[in-house]
Amino acid sequence: MRCKWMPLLLTILPSSSLANSQSVRIGVLGIFHPHQLTLSSSDRDAIVVTASGQTFFLQPGSPTERLQIRASGDILLLSLAGKEIRTRELHAAGRNQDAANFVLGVPGKLERKYRGTLDVKIVDGVLLPVITMDLESAVASVVQAESLAGTPLEALKAQAVVTRSYFVAGAGRHAEFDFCDLTHCQFLREAPRPGSPAARAAEATRDLIITFDDKPVAAMFTRSCGGHTLTPADIGIPSGGYPYFSVVRDFCYKNTVRWSRRLTAKDAAVLSDHREAGRLAVDRRLGWNAVPSNNFKEQKSGTEFILEGVGQGHGVGLCQRGARAMAEEGAGFHEIINNYFPNTSLGHVVPHPPPESRMERQLHP
Ligand SMILES: [Zn+2]
Ligand SMILES: [Zn+2]
Repeated sequence: MRCKWMPLLLTILPSSSLANSQSVRIGVLGIFHPHQLTLSSSDRDAIVVTASGQTFFLQPGSPTERLQIRASGDILLLSLAGKEIRTRELHAAGRNQDAANFVLGVPGKLERKYRGTLDVKIVDGVLLPVITMDLESAVASVVQAESLAGTPLEALKAQAVVTRSYFVAGAGRHAEFDFCDLTHCQFLREAPRPGSPAARAAEATRDLIITFDDKPVAAMFTRSCGGHTLTPADIGIPSGGYPYFSVVRDFCYKNTVRWSRRLTAKDAAVLSDHREAGRLAVDRRLGWNAVPSNNFKEQKSGTEFILEGVGQGHGVGLCQRGARAMAEEGAGFHEIINNYFPNTSLGHVVPHPPPESRMERQLHP
């Protein structure tokens, strides 16, 4: 039996007593639908690549420095210093199969630095790079990518806790990996440099997550709520265990993002129930931000509809503009999280032994 006064299941632990850190599998660069990739080390250490039962080294400063990966039907063609290997998938890591620092490039588009291990396979003729990275570097990378410059540290810390909670509790949105690197899951590019505000925010909240009913919350966030946050039920998406509450913030009413859009009657009909699925469907066709939020009024104008809206994003969970305003007024990250996620607690990624077992020991020594 649980006693009401017992502490939360996930209690605060000194970081020294935490077990080995967790990792997350992130599918990256999918937006480019890449047919070619390049892989090389981003420091002096070699990358160990295994493919088709063969192992080879990408040695910086040598002819085998850079691996070319091409899609050919359902096969990966690897070229390294004039040699070609055909394979179904490839794995890349550091010397002891541990995390490596590497650069992954989409020729003609961009290069990005990552730290972790890499798996590449081919799905529907497109290369699918998946990076297994340490949870904390994923958190720091998302805080960096998702936050505006000049955001106060306490707001960044709140973002870090929300991001970490989502990583811990929100997996399963993709078949081949846990999370993508787009706003569909959480936007992620490169890790921030050590000592940067994003890195400090992750560091200062290391292992902290939001819990409800003793379970991690797949916490959501939005750019601007427009005055009050919405619940998943409002926009027709699953709540995932935490019910959410509509939170009103004065600041957001007074400083909201206002937008206006002219849409066809057909698109307006898709949006008429103010649900996220409709908004994403229209955004997918007309482009990102075609309909900035679910909080709008529509008015017929000839054969078209004019939408007048407030806010940006789905409107659920932490409001980034509101969090920033709260931090500027002196609120700490804990207070910001309590505001946007009422009735939750802070816990740790690595749980403490359940209080039941401790209580049992007391009752039955
Ligand atoms: Zn995703
Ligand atoms: Zn807001």
